[in-house]
Amino acid sequence: MKTDVQIAQESTMKPIKDVAGKVGIPESALELYGNYKAKVSLDLLKQKQNEPDGKLILVTAINPTAAGEGKTTVNVGLSMGLNKIGKRAFTALREPSLGPCFGVKGGAAGGGHAQVVPMEDINLHFTGDIHAVTTANNLLAALIDNHIHQGNRLGIDPKRVSWRRAVDMNDRALRNIVVGLGNKGDGVVREDGFDISVASEVMAILCLAMDIRGLKERLSKMVIGYTYENKPVTAGQLDAVGSMALLLKDAIMPNLVQTLENTPAFIHGGPFANIAHGCNSVVATKTALKFGEYVVTEAGFGADLGAEKFFDIKCRYAGLEPSAAVIVATIKALKKHGGVGKNDLGTENLEALKIGFENLKRHVENVGKFGVPAVVAINEFPTDTQAEVELLDKMCREIGVPVVLTQVWAKGGDGAVELAKKVVELAEGGTSKFKPLYELNQPIVKKIETVAKEIYRADAVEFSNKALKAIKKHEEDGLGDLAICMAKTQYSFSDDPSLIGAPEGFKITINDVKVSAGAGFLIPMAGDIMRMPGLPKVPAANNIDILEDGEIIGLF
Ligand code: ADP
Ligand code: MG
Repeated sequence: MKTDVQIAQESTMKPIKDVAGKVGIPESALELYGNYKAKVSLDLLKQKQNEPDGKLILVTAINPTAAGEGKTTVNVGLSMGLNKIGKRAFTALREPSLGPCFGVKGGAAGGGHAQVVPMEDINLHFTGDIHAVTTANNLLAALIDNHIHQGNRLGIDPKRVSWRRAVDMNDRALRNIVVGLGNKGDGVVREDGFDISVASEVMAILCLAMDIRGLKERLSKMVIGYTYENKPVTAGQLDAVGSMALLLKDAIMPNLVQTLENTPAFIHGGPFANIAHGCNSVVATKTALKFGEYVVTEAGFGADLGAEKFFDIKCRYAGLEPSAAVIVATIKALKKHGGVGKNDLGTENLEALKIGFENLKRHVENVGKFGVPAVVAINEFPTDTQAEVELLDKMCREIGVPVVLTQVWAKGGDGAVELAKKVVELAEGGTSKFKPLYELNQPIVKKIETVAKEIYRADAVEFSNKALKAIKKHEEDGLGDLAICMAKTQYSFSDDPSLIGAPEGFKITINDVKVSAGAGFLIPMAGDIMRMPGLPKVPAANNIDILEDGEIIGLF
């Protein structure tokens, strides 16, 4: 069987200017990075401002296993399937982070015959956007420590600096560090730490800003810590915004690449969905909507995190109206939710599938709460049996949700023709009545409880004293009206990764509530979630290689 990277390298890419030209994006709007990657000018979107949008389709999923259940793969496959049935479609995805790439999950450019290419570039340094985010983040960190060292005019309390440094790697050793050790000239000693770059507020802002002006407005509002008088200090007060925006001037432009079947694909911005808002950039999605009849986009992890944030944060803030959602399910993960161990997922088990189906059922109901019609895509794996597929199909029909067997990994766009037809039927049926789950002007506690009870189905939310104090402070600082961006495990509806399936009778514990005032959200920390992941015992990095002839191995 061929690996993803082999399939990708054997494919025939078209020059990106031809891919763009075919959908009406002129060459003059492209900034080429070689023949197969381009950044697209922000002016293009401005020029098309008053033209109608295509239809926006969200790809979301059940709670995944560590490997992922195939949202990106189905997303790419569906865009190719839509092309096959004569619709001008785009894919719009996030940029992969190097953390998962070298950690557990591997690349994030799709799989099998449903990938975006050049996959090795996309998975590695690509056009340098994540580098730019990291650098802007760390410039601000350097300015903060320098400000304190140079006399601390603003009176920043070194013990209350909340801005952390960033690096795009899973590196647990950097979670808690001490900076400023050494002599008098070496800065002020304080505790600090690193978050993975894709958890940086700068990444979230890059994904929500519409232009350089909006970028600067948001950057200037970022709270970096508090003064000795307990007043918030912003990046604007540190005069950091101009230089940060300059570092991000190219990163804000969406990247255009293509699928294995030459469908145009925007890959831009990449916040994680468990610790950030999990969606690709608004500029990429909006630009795609101006040129495509259909734009298929993914939100990270399961629908409890990704879809909720896509609807409540991205769509709300950007004024997007999604037309339909695809909920990806795999039989192997549903069996896992039904209690089957990791090593037995390849064996037929109808009983476990029945129990695990409860997880899918809850996500289907939840997507309905946002008023968006949904279809379940069974992402077919080689180990699925016919009896299992038939049972899953039957259970979906019993709860009244359309369901389609999807074979994009094995067959590319041909494997998504049925799914594409169903999506078109839902989207053109015009039944979507999108609405966010909560109102922004509700109290913070109420907003958190709404998400926890309506989406996770928790009985109650328990707030630590630290969280309650933080909430009070944010409300006093005039930041109570922001959206909620929950930091929670992706493996369970609850904050406990071992509570699989559709758990009931549990509480959600909020340990702290952080604020991203520039991005426009509050981040309740549910359970032990960390903003800097670690590597597993045997990281993917141990099996990745490049040979003398340039052949790449192990990048999935
Ligand atoms: P997600 O976006 O939901 O995290 P991905 O699309 O990245 O998931 O897929 C996760 C992994 O599973 C990838 O390595 C991909 O190649 C593989 N994969 C996805 N769908 C299939 C399938 N139908 N059969 C076999 N492998 C698959
Ligand atoms: Mg993905």
